[in-house]
Amino acid sequence: MCGVIGIHGSPESAQEAYQGLLLMQHRGQDAAGILTQTNNQINLHKDVGLVDKVFSRDNLIALKGETSIGHTRYSTIGKIEAKDCLPFFSNYPFGISLAHNGNLKNIDELKLKLHKKYQRFTYSNNDAEVMLNIISHYLSQKEHFNFELLSGAISELMEMCDGAYAVVGGILSHGLFAFRDPHGIRPLVYGKKFNGTNWVYAFASESNTLEYLDYQYIKDVRPGELIYIDNQMNFYSKNIQEKQLKTCMFEWIYFANPESVIDKKMVYQNRIHLGDYLAKKIKDLIDLDEVDVVVPVPETSRISAIRLSELIQKPYRELLIKNRYIQRSFILNDQKSRENAVRLKLSPVKKEIEGKNIILVDDSIVRGTTSKNIIKLMRNAGAKKIIFASTCPPILFPCHYGIDFPTTKELVAHGKNYQEIKDALGADEVIYLNIPMLIDALETENICKKCLDGKEEIEFNTSNLINKQDPKNEINL
Ligand code: SF4
Repeated sequence: MCGVIGIHGSPESAQEAYQGLLLMQHRGQDAAGILTQTNNQINLHKDVGLVDKVFSRDNLIALKGETSIGHTRYSTIGKIEAKDCLPFFSNYPFGISLAHNGNLKNIDELKLKLHKKYQRFTYSNNDAEVMLNIISHYLSQKEHFNFELLSGAISELMEMCDGAYAVVGGILSHGLFAFRDPHGIRPLVYGKKFNGTNWVYAFASESNTLEYLDYQYIKDVRPGELIYIDNQMNFYSKNIQEKQLKTCMFEWIYFANPESVIDKKMVYQNRIHLGDYLAKKIKDLIDLDEVDVVVPVPETSRISAIRLSELIQKPYRELLIKNRYIQRSFILNDQKSRENAVRLKLSPVKKEIEGKNIILVDDSIVRGTTSKNIIKLMRNAGAKKIIFASTCPPILFPCHYGIDFPTTKELVAHGKNYQEIKDALGADEVIYLNIPMLIDALETENICKKCLDGKEEIEFNTSNLINKQDPKNEINL
């Protein structure tokens, strides 16, 4: 998961891209970069770190040009090092640049093809560089650039690339382009504003970024759609290869800003709906007389937890206080450090926790490491009973589309029954929404849920998860 932004036609394009990246910092904290185009020059600054650490005032002043591409990175492949930061740039032909959000499943195969067939080498571990080379190779076969040529390049890319991608890119002296993979797994929206003399266009991973920068939201880029805006501000669009929309369900559950709208669905509203269904499930399974308080795991579960507390009429309390200055825990690569990182990140309010029966609400349970450590933290603070409730159904299969859980064995719910999951986490109860409830809450079946049901890979095997001896288990999962 990353954040991308593209600005075309604004004299302040780098400043706008910078502000946009700050607003999308939650989508990736490992690295950031901005590339700008003047009519005949490329300027690029990128590095490892948070957006405000990577860019100084002087960097931004040096990034001249009315076209910008920005990226904030969350690494799923490659290491967190400068050579893997985005955007990428290829000087031949024309001067092409590119940044993307997603992940290509067949990157090794693609690299081999680039090498053997096209005599092109990549120096990074990033799939954006592979995509850039596919486009460059295609465009280099013709002398003159036009939209039809670009459409041919993106059509070839879509034929070759297996995976999720939401891309913004630039062609020096020509314009800005953007496209989304044929299933639209990763989000991309666009908008425009009039700056007094001409229209200025912007693309971003999230709609709230456009809103903040005063762009009028036009729509989401359609699955498989290519959009190109030339330097004369002529607008071109083509459906290159459209399949059924399958946006990652995690966008609504966890990734996106609550005030964003993705594929016409408001994230905030959907998180309320998740709380509605969680309340339904909890009412069916738990004796509410034994619940004292609803506590969210900061930050993303807050909206659902508030809704849950309203519906079950139990007080909502923020009893885990987040230290905002600690970054993501898996940059620490051993288990002990990760455990300590949870304690650094979250401080329990002991006096309010002691002796209480608590419903602890989180957006999801992936590896279970964080959930387990939070439960331990609450127990050490004196919690009597902990019911751990997740707005996401059990994650049983890996993701190869840009989220960092590439193998089955690291997933806490995989191959376990309900009792085993409870034991692994150290909770008194574990409650998940089920898949039909998730679909109802998000009000769409047009979601990717491959990590939940395995889809073509592995059939969702409830017998693995449910201990048939205990009827409660059957309802719970
Ligand atoms: S497999 Fe899961 S995490 Fe990956 S894109 Fe699909 S829904 Fe999102």
